[in-house]
Amino acid sequence: MSLKLRLTVRPERRLRLHYVPEQGVLPIRRPRTVLAVLLVVWVALLLLPSRPISFPFQAVSFQTVSGPISPIPELPQPWPQSVAVDAARAVSARFTSGSTLDATLRGAGVSGSNLTSMLTVLSDAVDVRRIRPGQEYQLYFDATDELIGFRYQISRQTAWFVARDDGNWAALQVAIPIQSRIAFVSAEIVDSLHRALAAHAPTNGSVNDLVIKVGDIYGWDVDFQYDLRYGDRLDLVVEERFVEDKFIGYGEILSAEFRVNGLVLPVVRFRDPDGIGSYFTPDGASLRRAFLRSPVKHSRISSRFSMRRVHPVTGIARAHRGVDYVADPGTPVQATADGVVAEARYGAEPGRFVRLRHGGSYTSVYMHLSRIENGIAPGTEVKQGAILGYVGKTGNATGYHLHYGLEQGGRYVDPLRLQFPAAAPVPTNHWGRFVAQRDEVIEALRTGQANSAAAVAGAGGL
Ligand SMILES: [Zn+2]
Repeated sequence: MSLKLRLTVRPERRLRLHYVPEQGVLPIRRPRTVLAVLLVVWVALLLLPSRPISFPFQAVSFQTVSGPISPIPELPQPWPQSVAVDAARAVSARFTSGSTLDATLRGAGVSGSNLTSMLTVLSDAVDVRRIRPGQEYQLYFDATDELIGFRYQISRQTAWFVARDDGNWAALQVAIPIQSRIAFVSAEIVDSLHRALAAHAPTNGSVNDLVIKVGDIYGWDVDFQYDLRYGDRLDLVVEERFVEDKFIGYGEILSAEFRVNGLVLPVVRFRDPDGIGSYFTPDGASLRRAFLRSPVKHSRISSRFSMRRVHPVTGIARAHRGVDYVADPGTPVQATADGVVAEARYGAEPGRFVRLRHGGSYTSVYMHLSRIENGIAPGTEVKQGAILGYVGKTGNATGYHLHYGLEQGGRYVDPLRLQFPAAAPVPTNHWGRFVAQRDEVIEALRTGQANSAAAVAGAGGL
């Protein structure tokens, strides 16, 4: 009997920000031991109390913690607003293809000298040939059904008003302000973070955005593929952005608490005096590490660090002193830590590659690049996250991937197994500022949690 076992190996709790299935497959040396372990795991699973899993995720709580944090600004000039307010009747529609502006407005009941003067002013202000099907417009009429205003939405944040002002028509471009408010989101994990947050987010794109933001914050401490358990909970205080009451996306996560894998991980966002935001624990420790988990986002690992493997091109067994990330050609490759460029050139084996020297006797190397970023040359100083080049398959490579290697004290080490030291904590000279911001966003988090618990209790859920 032949047994085909694919073991997905989880090296240890650490650091990845990929939501794609892990591909790590190891040859099995001792099948009997493995079978015994699997049997024990299977029996243990049978003994666990059964957990009902319901789809879609139901226990949703979502409420606004406080009013708008930036008050809704008035439009800068009063007259277009007064036109909208004074109108007896307003028509809102979108331009359609196959019709002219003139015909569209006539079809909407506008005619005569009013239409002519309005169009003259409008075409002086706006290139009417650039009006596109699907763009929105509004027409405002007074009590005698005369046109008094026309509004044309150019983009989400820009509109033109053409309005009658003391008998004369005038045009005005209006910038529509973004409003933001803070909201509390509480998501219980059923099967994935994405699905849990999808229950709250107004649009698909905003779910992905929120998942990436959460990943950026917690990616160093939580392995999103292996650590999440049924019943884990993520609470967030997050900015929501609106244009004219229409949700346009999330802003920053201001504070969060992740109950995951038996841990409670609260974080707060701190904006330093230069306006740069980063995440810290409430006692000021950084959530960042000196090294990024991975030099490429949205990639998957195709080959791990090992002291011995068969090379796909040469067929010769030899060590693989790094980690291969498969990614689309042209995906940016980032410096995993602050450092100085030691080499940036072409080599027969590594193809185009960049080698960085870091503090603490670390060196990192990035191979098979399609292109090295402009300005990356020996001696260049780079910050963590800086773009060094782009994923390619130059040199000895079978497909598009990045080979990432890390040396410590001249010896290659497995970057996936290293526990990197944390980045610097909140600097002492910013401590007062940090405490003030922290207390505010933590209070918003606690208020949201309390309201949410009360709502559940009120609904008979407790
Ligand atoms: Zn490799």
